[in-house]
Amino acid sequence: MRDLVILACGDCKRRNYTTTRNKKKQQEKLQIKKYCPFCKTHSLHKETK
Ligand SMILES: [Zn+2]
Repeated sequence: MRDLVILACGDCKRRNYTTTRNKKKQQEKLQIKKYCPFCKTHSLHKETK
């Protein structure tokens, strides 16, 4: 079972990425450094719903 996860930029709160994760393996909240085209820099993207 995989859940769809939306990753939002921590700075501008825009939702830039979607990914999937396995809830059984990954129980902590996802935080990934990714490029945000709106901030034009790499920022921490957090899981949102
Ligand atoms: Zn941003």
